[in-house]
Amino acid sequence: MTALDALIPFAQTGRIGAARVGAQLKDVIAALGEPWAHGASIGADGLPYLYAYGSLEIATCQAHCQVIESIAIQTDLPTMEWPTREPGRAATFPGYPTYGDVLRTLAQAGCRWEEYEPLSLEGQCAIRVPASDVILVFEDADEFQLCNASVAQHRPHTCG
Ligand SMILES: [Zn+2]
Repeated sequence: MTALDALIPFAQTGRIGAARVGAQLKDVIAALGEPWAHGASIGADGLPYLYAYGSLEIATCQAHCQVIESIAIQTDLPTMEWPTREPGRAATFPGYPTYGDVLRTLAQAGCRWEEYEPLSLEGQCAIRVPASDVILVFEDADEFQLCNASVAQHRPHTCG
């Protein structure tokens, strides 16, 4: 498995298996087991609202319903960790996919993208996949490398 194997289906669909915006964290836990890490901050119901399975990060609403509000793949590490079908067991592969490799693979997959100006700043550039609303942010090192790919719901759901 490579970073692109994780990335391209996410870019196309905006979801990673059970992890999709609007689903509940418990649906992901049912598929992948307990998250491997969580954020230190807690929401109104005393629960963390940031969870991670290695390089897969999930943010939920800050209440007991734990509806998923955003999903990100962090690719800015030399070695990425990724959940497998076997709960708790990680696959590992190199991070930092290059701009050229990402765009070539998106094209091979027939996945259309456009420039995303709000996050195209000095030293970084961003693209958006209209079909899924996934945004990919690249940083300029020796060449442009992918930092992360993410999707978020535009209107936070109202709990309760
Ligand atoms: Zn909620």
